[in-house]
Amino acid sequence: MITLALSKGRILDDCLPLLKAAGIELEEDPETSRKLIFATTRPDVRVVLVRASDVPTYVQYGGADLGVAGKDVLLEHSGGGLYQPLDLKIARCRMSVATRADFDYASAVKQGSRIRVATKYTGLARQHFADKGVHVDLIKLYGSMELAPLTGLADAIVDLVSSGSTLRANGLVEVERIVEISSRLIVNQAALKLRRDEIRPLIDALERAVEFAETQRVAP
Ligand code: ATP
Ligand code: MG
Repeated sequence: MITLALSKGRILDDCLPLLKAAGIELEEDPETSRKLIFATTRPDVRVVLVRASDVPTYVQYGGADLGVAGKDVLLEHSGGGLYQPLDLKIARCRMSVATRADFDYASAVKQGSRIRVATKYTGLARQHFADKGVHVDLIKLYGSMELAPLTGLADAIVDLVSSGSTLRANGLVEVERIVEISSRLIVNQAALKLRRDEIRPLIDALERAVEFAETQRVAP
């Protein structure tokens, strides 16, 4: 049995067409079901639903053989044992710094002043500002990051941006792009080594599904 870990929401929505193209369909609609484990049209493949940030943990410790996780989650996740064979090119967005429109980010960075940054991605943010030589006080949040600069909790946030409409709606400005984000297939290294004949064809099928999806995307 091959166990694939996915998370509800964006990743699941974008993954289902790729899985379908690879010949795998869930036996029940995960959006309406309360189940956490789903059989698929392939008797040797099952899907488990976990929290987005828990996917690498499941795969690392072998609770799942494979998983799909955002690069944001993977950059933040510390720990080895994961092989990342494939960019699925779904759930695309970017990790950015945003501030209130009236905050002079460029000067704050240039003058080496201490800035307060609120984020869910403290590891990634710490690394980013260390690379720039900027002194930061990091404040860990679990959601609604946009509120932090508006209430004076922080000068800036580090968060995911796609269209920028959430930032705009809250009077915030994207002042720096840190890294492009998309979701990756991750594989437990030991499982791949021991059960290569089972797992490798699935990776190859998903790779073909990604290539096919790309040709559909650029087609007129
Ligand atoms: P949880 O709600 O369990 O805390 P989450 O909020 O991180 O998890 P999602 O919002 O579904 O869950 O995000 C899952 C992944 O989708 C993220 O890790 C990121 O890679 C990607 N993602 C998040 N926001 C966007 C966005 N606005 N556009 C495109 N992809 C995104
Ligand atoms: Mg979310």
